[in-house]
Amino acid sequence: MTEQSPNELWKSCPTGTLETMVRTGRRRRRIALATKTGSAAAALLVVGLTVGLVAQQRNSSGKPPMPEMQYGGISCSQCASLMAGYQAKQLDTAAAQQVAAHLKQCGSCRQAFQQMNATVHVPDRRSPQTGFLAHFGQGIPRRLAHATQAP
Ligand SMILES: [Zn+2]
Repeated sequence: MTEQSPNELWKSCPTGTLETMVRTGRRRRRIALATKTGSAAAALLVVGLTVGLVAQQRNSSGKPPMPEMQYGGISCSQCASLMAGYQAKQLDTAAAQQVAAHLKQCGSCRQAFQQMNATVHVPDRRSPQTGFLAHFGQGIPRRLAHATQAP
């Protein structure tokens, strides 16, 4: 019996080697994680600082963030207030032309108008709005009848 058994080979391995390996592995993983979260935090910090700076600049200048542009003879805020009527085709021709001209030239208002189109048209079918309007509409003749029947 001169050959070493596998058990003895394992025993010859200095104690603590495996432990050290495991520990090193863990530490490496922890460091990697720390760098990852650290860079994410740094990115967030940069974003936060930028937003803060922009907000500060806005506050100090006292001006609205977007300059009021005049397109088609109306400003962006006027265009925004006319937009719903324009979409519902309730504006008179002159106002509708102004809004159309503004939308043609103003990208941000055009985007807002497109967003309004998307949000107004899509929920129409399933929205409680339809139900409410239907209910409201049904109530009117009843109320009218009640009013006319009253002595
Ligand atoms: Zn505009």
